Amino acid sequence: MNQQNKQTFEKHESNVRSYCRKFPVTFNRAKDSFLYDNQDNRYIDLLCGAGALNFGHNNKLISDAVIKYVQQDGILMSLDLHTKAKEDFITAFNQIILEPRSLNYKMQFTSPSGTSVVESAVKLARKVTGRQNVICFTNGFHGMSGTSLSLTGNSSQRQAVSQGEITRLPFDGYLGKGFDLMPLYRKLLTDTSSGVDMPAAIILETVQGEGGVNVASIKWLKEIRQLTEEFDIKLIIDDIQAGCGRTGKFFSFERAEIVPDLVCLSKSIGGIGLPMAVLLMSPELDQWAPGEDNGTFRGNNLAFIAATEMLNQYWADAKLINDIQSKAFMITKFFNGLMQKYSLYIKECRGIGLMQGIEFYDENMSTKVIADCFTRKLLIETCGTKDQVVKLMPALTIDKDLLQIALDQLGDVIAEVC
Ligand SMILES: *Cc1c(COP(=O)(O)O)cnc(C)c1O
Repeated sequence: MNQQNKQTFEKHESNVRSYCRKFPVTFNRAKDSFLYDNQDNRYIDLLCGAGALNFGHNNKLISDAVIKYVQQDGILMSLDLHTKAKEDFITAFNQIILEPRSLNYKMQFTSPSGTSVVESAVKLARKVTGRQNVICFTNGFHGMSGTSLSLTGNSSQRQAVSQGEITRLPFDGYLGKGFDLMPLYRKLLTDTSSGVDMPAAIILETVQGEGGVNVASIKWLKEIRQLTEEFDIKLIIDDIQAGCGRTGKFFSFERAEIVPDLVCLSKSIGGIGLPMAVLLMSPELDQWAPGEDNGTFRGNNLAFIAATEMLNQYWADAKLINDIQSKAFMITKFFNGLMQKYSLYIKECRGIGLMQGIEFYDENMSTKVIADCFTRKLLIETCGTKDQVVKLMPALTIDKDLLQIALDQLGDVIAEVC
C-alpha cells in the first residue's frame, strides 16, 4: 500500500479507528458492489458499510436523483423545517411501506445515526410509561452513545451510563436452541422480589448483527410481543441493521407477523449510505412536547431524496424481495457444502435473507479467513463475542454472477485455512 497515505492516518487520525485496520488500503471510489483503492485495485464488497449500503455504492437509480437535487439548488440543511424533500419521503414511506403492511406509525426524524434513534426510542418509552427500567438481551448491540451503550452486550464495548436502569436477559437460543426462556422472563416480571423493575420497554434485534448473526425464532418473537402486551411494556425493534430489506422483507419483524410499538431505522434507509435515521412510533405514543427531543441535523434532505428514490425503485413491487430470496438460496447451498466438508472447524452456518454468518469454533480461523479474503480483494467482516463469525452482507442488489464469484473465493480461502 501507499506508505505516504498510511502515515497520514496513523499520524493525524485518532487511534480509535477500527475497520481500516482490517482493510489497510486507501479507498478512492466505489460503484455498486465494487470498491477501488487508490492504485485502482478492485475489491468485492461484502461488508457493505455494516449494512448501510443495502443498495450498493453510488447506485445510479438513486444517485441520479441526488445529483439532480443538488444541481437544482435543493435545500440541504433546514433543521426540522417543512421541506418538499421531507414531504415526499413521508408520503412515499406511507404509501409504499406502511399502508400495504397495514402499519400505522408516526415518524420522528432523529439525529442521523443509529444510536440517536435508539436513544430517542428509549427516552420516549420511559416518558410515556413513567418507568425507568429497560430490558435488553445478551449479545445485543444498539450503538455507542449513553443509553445505547448501556444496552450493549459486549463487555469490552459496554459502558453502563444508565446503571441500574437496564436488565439484561438471555436472547433466544442463548441456553441452546429451543430452550424455553419465557417462564424465566415471566417470573422475573411478576415476582416483586426478582429485583427486576417493571420495564418501560424491551428492545431487541430480530437478527443480532454485531452479536454474531443470531436469528430469533418466530415463536420467541411472537411470545415476546404477547408478554409486552400483557404488561403494557413498549416493544422496541432495533431494525437499524436487519431492516430495509436485509432479511428479505422491508422490516425484519414481518416474518413473525408482529407489530412493534417503536421501530428504529437507520443505516440503509438513506438509500446510498447518506446519514439518516427515523423512529417509527404508534400514534398514541407521540407524546413529545414540541422540541422536547431535538437536534440540529434532524432530517437530512439529501438523504430524504435518496430514501424516496430507493422506495420508488425497489419497494413498489416484489422484484427485489424475490431476488433476495434467490440470492439467499445461493448462500444456503454454499453453506451446505461447507458444513459437509468442514464441520470439524465450522460450528454453524446461519442467517436469513442476505444477513448470513459462518461461525468457527476457533476465532483465529475466522480472523485468518477475512484477512486472506482481503488479500484476494474480497471485503468481509467478522462479528460475535470473539469475532468468531464471518458475516456475509452483500448488497441486496448484487449481481448473481458476482455473488457466486465471491462465494467461490470465500470457499477457496476456507479450504486453505481449514
Ligand atoms: C449499527 C447499529 C446501531 C448503531 O448505529 P450507529 O449509526 O453506528 O450509531 C444500532 N443498532 C444496530 C442493530 C446496529 O447494527
